[in-house]
Amino acid sequence: MSYHVNEKGYYGEFGGAYIPEMLYPNVEELRQQYLKITAEPSFQAEFDALLKDYVGRPTPLYFAERLSKQYKTKIYLKREDLCHTGAHKVNNTIGQILLAKRLGKNRIIAETGAGQHGVATATVCALMGLQCIVYMGEIDIERQAPNVARMKMLGAEVRPALSGSRTLKDATNEAIRDWINNPVDTYYIIGSVVGPHPYPDMVARFQSVISQEIKTQLLEKEGKENPDYVIACVGGGSNAAGAYYHFLDDEEVNIIAVEAAGLGVDSGESAATSVLGKVGVIHGSKTLLMQSKDGQITEPYSISAGLDYPGVGPMHAHLYASGRAQFISITDDQAMQWGLKLSNMEGIIPAIESAHAFAVLDEMKFKPEDVVVINLSGRGDKDLNTYIEYFKL
Ligand SMILES: *Cc1c(COP(=O)(O)O)cnc(C)c1O
Repeated sequence: MSYHVNEKGYYGEFGGAYIPEMLYPNVEELRQQYLKITAEPSFQAEFDALLKDYVGRPTPLYFAERLSKQYKTKIYLKREDLCHTGAHKVNNTIGQILLAKRLGKNRIIAETGAGQHGVATATVCALMGLQCIVYMGEIDIERQAPNVARMKMLGAEVRPALSGSRTLKDATNEAIRDWINNPVDTYYIIGSVVGPHPYPDMVARFQSVISQEIKTQLLEKEGKENPDYVIACVGGGSNAAGAYYHFLDDEEVNIIAVEAAGLGVDSGESAATSVLGKVGVIHGSKTLLMQSKDGQITEPYSISAGLDYPGVGPMHAHLYASGRAQFISITDDQAMQWGLKLSNMEGIIPAIESAHAFAVLDEMKFKPEDVVVINLSGRGDKDLNTYIEYFKL
C-alpha cells in the first residue's frame, strides 16, 4: 500500500483535480513544474537557508519531563510554535513563494479564515517584495482584527469576501475567481494539504521538514530514528502531513490524527470530518467532507479557528480509509483544559489547535518505554482572548 500521491494525483481513491475548465492552464503549469523546480539544487539551497535563518529551523525536539512522569511514558514535543510567525504555516509559504518567483509570477493571492495563513503569506511577500492580496470573509475580518492589522502592516491588501456566509469558503471562491481572471502573472498560495493536485503533495513536501528533523533529533536523543507514536491535530492537515511524512512507510510507527469534536461529535456543532464526513469534492479535490444528504457542505464548528474546516486533505482521507492512521476526536473543553495544563506543567502556552493533540494522552494507554512525539503546531498568543473568556482570567 502506498500512502504517497500517485502520478494522477490520487491517494487511494482521494485527491485529483476537480477544477473549472478556466483554471486548467494554471494548475497544469504548476503540476508540470513543481517537482522539477523544487528538486533543483539552487531551490533546495535557498529553501534550506531561509528555513534556517529566517524561520529559525531546526525547531527543537523537547523532552517534556513533567508530562512524561505523569503519563509514565516518554513524551517529546516538536516545537513548531517556535517558528517565525508562531506556527508551522510559514514552512509552506516560504516554499511556495520561492516556486512562484521561479515561475515568473509577481502577484500573490491567498485565502484565509482566521488569518494565520494570510499572515504567513503576507510575511513571505514582504520578504520577497511581491504584491500580496489576501481574500478573507467579511465576518472573519470582524472576528480576527489583530491578524487583519498584521497583514496590513506587512503590506498586504485584505479584500473582503461579501458573498454567502462571508467566511473561509467564500474567501476561497473569491481567490479562485481572481486566479481565473489573472492566469499569467498571479500565483495562488494555498495554506494546507488541500486543493487540486499538485497542491496537497506540494504542501506536504514543504512541511515534511518536520518529520525529517524528528528523525535526526530522535536518533541523537534515543538512538533510533522512529518514534512509537506520532500525534498531530488535523484541520486541513498540513502540520500533520509534515509530522507523518517520513514515517508513512514505517508501519511500526503508529500515526494518530486528532480532529476537533467541537461541542461533541453528535452535537451538530463539530468538525470531526472522519466521523461525520462522506466522500465528496471540496476545493478541487475528492476527499472526506461534512455534507448534508443532498451534498451541501455542512458548516463545521470548533473553538479553534484552524480546525474549523468541513473537510480533510486527500492524504488524510486515505490514511483514514486505509486504517494507516488512527483518528481521535477531542472536544472544545478537553482542548481548553489542555491549553491550561501544558501552560502550567511545561511553561508553554499552546495554540488551541495544538492543545487538541495533547488530549490524546488521556484517551490512550502508552507503555513506559514508548517514545511519543506530539507536534506542537503553534503558540497560543493568537488565542489569548479565547483563553481569557473561557477561564475568566
Ligand atoms: C492553521 C493551523 C492548524 C491547522 O492547519 P493544518 O493544515 O491542519 O495544520 C493547526 N495548528 C495551528 C497552530 C494552525 O495555525
